[in-house]
Amino acid sequence: MTGIDTPAAATGIVGIDIGGTKIGGLLVSDAGVVLARGSVPAPASLGGAAMADAAAGLARDLAARADVYLTAVGVGAAGVIDHETGTVRAASATFVDWAGFPLADALESRLSVPVRVENDVNAFLLGEVAAHDRSEHDVLGVMLGTGVGGAVIIDGELRHGPHGAAGEIGHTPGYSDHVCTCGQTGHLETLASGTSIGRRYAERVGGAALDARVVAEHARAGDQHAIAVFRAAGRALALACASAATLLDLPHAIVGGGVSSAWDLLEPAIEETLRTDSPVSGLPLRITPARLGGDAVALGAIETARRALVLVDAGRT
Ligand SMILES: [Zn+2]
Repeated sequence: MTGIDTPAAATGIVGIDIGGTKIGGLLVSDAGVVLARGSVPAPASLGGAAMADAAAGLARDLAARADVYLTAVGVGAAGVIDHETGTVRAASATFVDWAGFPLADALESRLSVPVRVENDVNAFLLGEVAAHDRSEHDVLGVMLGTGVGGAVIIDGELRHGPHGAAGEIGHTPGYSDHVCTCGQTGHLETLASGTSIGRRYAERVGGAALDARVVAEHARAGDQHAIAVFRAAGRALALACASAATLLDLPHAIVGGGVSSAWDLLEPAIEETLRTDSPVSGLPLRITPARLGGDAVALGAIETARRALVLVDAGRT
């Protein structure tokens, strides 16, 4: 077989989801088909270079397994990200040597392909919107995980804001008297994060804070304290979404993260709140659970890389 007879090699884009404990990856063909997936432990305590080594190794492994050439890599990473340079601006203490780390440059030098980096919640929202309804141009995203993150798409584009912090709905005030992880008081996160659900339940019944999943099991078994904790989370979430939707005329909020798996427990308070606190536009606000599960961040990262490649190609012609 000569090179002339060899069909053009298939190409694909890898999306990488970098968290504090795990780095997950998906390889997607140009037609949008997932060809390979995998994950490796995140060496967050060893610094940015070790994280970049692990992420690059995962991308190479996925490409080799699917036998495709990589054309680009997209990354959704925890922390405040400068999406234009792909540098991490700020990060939690879990990540050693992460704030200031030039993640896109580090990956480009290891993989020799263009790399785009987004904040993981931004990537989550882009993934959800791109996968399910490309006609949706104005949407709020909320991630109920260890903390509460947010993102906003306006006119079909992620809105980053001058400091990369647009959409951070988890740290909007007025929902409780509890101290937030950020040190301020009353933020949405103090009622709606997985950590807070565990703490609020422990305050009612005593004992150590439980995992939110365990509190959800108690609620489903009829525990009124657990039900009340989820009701408070659902109501605060809906009020925060209604405020954002009113301010920006957003018809839809997509809610993901681990806590959203307890949608059956959140939904009654969400629906009740939306009946009394709807946007002034008169149009109903929809608040729905995310549908991609754990793949959303990686798929959104791929969408970020794909959009950047289109821009580069357009610039060449
Ligand atoms: Zn806060």
